[in-house]
Amino acid sequence: MEYNKLSDEIIAKLQALVGVQNVVTDAGQMEIYSHDEVTDPAYHHMPEAVVFAENAQQVAAVVKLANEYIFPVVPRGAGTGLACGAVPIYGGVVLSLEKMNKIIEVNADAMYAVVEPGVRTSDLQAAAEAKGAFYAGDPCSGDSCFIGGNVATNAGGNRAVKYGTTRHQVYAVEVVSPTGKIVQLGARLQKQTTGYCLEQLIIGSEGTLGIITQITVKLLPLPKYSMDLLAVFESPEDAIGTVNKLIMAGIMPTCVEYMDNITIKSVERYLGTTLQGSDKGNYLIVEVEGTSEDDLDEKACTMDEICSENGAGDVLVAEHDKIWQARKAFAEAVRAESLIVCKEDVVCPVDHEPALLAEILRLADKYQLVTRIASHAGDGNIHLNILKQEQENYADWDARVKANQQELYRFIYAHGGRLSGEHGIGYKRKQLMEEFTNPDELEMMRAIKKALDSNNILNPGKIFDIE
Ligand SMILES: Cc1cc2nc3c(=O)[nH]c(=O)nc-3n(C[C@H](O)[C@H](O)[C@H](O)COP(=O)(O)OP(=O)(O)OC[C@H]3O[C@@H](n4cnc5c(N)ncnc54)[C@H](O)[C@@H]3O)c2cc1C
Repeated sequence: MEYNKLSDEIIAKLQALVGVQNVVTDAGQMEIYSHDEVTDPAYHHMPEAVVFAENAQQVAAVVKLANEYIFPVVPRGAGTGLACGAVPIYGGVVLSLEKMNKIIEVNADAMYAVVEPGVRTSDLQAAAEAKGAFYAGDPCSGDSCFIGGNVATNAGGNRAVKYGTTRHQVYAVEVVSPTGKIVQLGARLQKQTTGYCLEQLIIGSEGTLGIITQITVKLLPLPKYSMDLLAVFESPEDAIGTVNKLIMAGIMPTCVEYMDNITIKSVERYLGTTLQGSDKGNYLIVEVEGTSEDDLDEKACTMDEICSENGAGDVLVAEHDKIWQARKAFAEAVRAESLIVCKEDVVCPVDHEPALLAEILRLADKYQLVTRIASHAGDGNIHLNILKQEQENYADWDARVKANQQELYRFIYAHGGRLSGEHGIGYKRKQLMEEFTNPDELEMMRAIKKALDSNNILNPGKIFDIE
């Protein structure tokens, strides 16, 4: 696909559409929009302009102009992505949604909220809570990412084991289509079978099929009682193998998170603190909700029994704030150890997760990789971080990382898994997506993209190439 450069004429038209103050072309100011949270400069790319939209009409007008003059438009939320989804690899316009940050309505009685895409996820959670309601989506980046980005990537996070991922929290979306129409998709209904479920197609499409300009999310009652249990296991596989046993025992945890011991030590160093049971092994953090203190006590006894039977040396009541601060500091702690990190986000059926973890450890040993591992264990989603660090003998690091990926992904696909559980494909995993996805499935995806975006205007070069 050939794109036109943003000429003075196009820049002037953009300024007329959104206001001079909302079009930035200064290289210094645009630098931050050339990347997301992926630190490897090989994945960075400068836009030709950053445009800040203030409403859906402006978004639509910019997309129409892009179709007229044939330049790419890359939607961007907070830029916390880990797949280079918001990186403008063909230049053109980065369309920032950060000024569309209004919470339009929180209706606790009818259990929904309507928000613009630039609302910070933690602000939505707080606004719901202020009205006695609960927004269940909870990515670890919740203090910085936007709800629009969460919808675009179908963000997961900690509570997905009980409440599902972002797609399970959404009733309806307003989107600007790739040709610049403002369309309402979905409805505030508990059920419907009224044609294709297009809102779910948009969710997780990483800005390639539409720009999300408004979202209606579901709210729930606030959980009244909850507790966090910390089970410390010597064996990583035993820790992960406990997940389904807890669920089969009738405990429906809100979160089940795993951290390996070397990662726990890394987080301790980063936070300058000592964590409970950190000398004794690998963590399984289990959060559970209850209807009363007695209910929680009963669940705690059952969990203690199951974890101990499954090999936990210690089962402790965790300090909520401290343990979650530690879990959420995982990414920063890893970055403090190594600026360049290869982050894998693999996912498999939960019953295959112990085997996957064992394979990850075997491969790390085979390819001599320095790893830090945390997992949304309740969802079968393992975050394998491979650290480059600064050592001289790491000159062949890229080759070893690639060889590891090939073996790991073959294993995952043989076990019914996929290459990304929640971060998405973006630009970073595009080659691997093409290599490992069933060709017939890819063909259907390409057909949808071509049908909706024949000029390939919206976020081109992401997820897969169209030719
Ligand atoms: C420390 C840390 C912890 C994280 N923890 C989690 C976690 O627990 N779970 C998880 O799922 N992810 C996690 N992430 C990844 C990231 O935060 C999520 O992918 C998040 O949903 C991205 O939101 P954003 O607003 O930053 O989007 P961006 O990074 O700006 O964009 C991400 C993608 O969405 C598209 N997009 C953004 N807004 C829109 C829109 N309005 N319309 C259409 N497309 C749009 C972009 O084009 C891009 O393809 C973490 C990241 C970090 C740095």
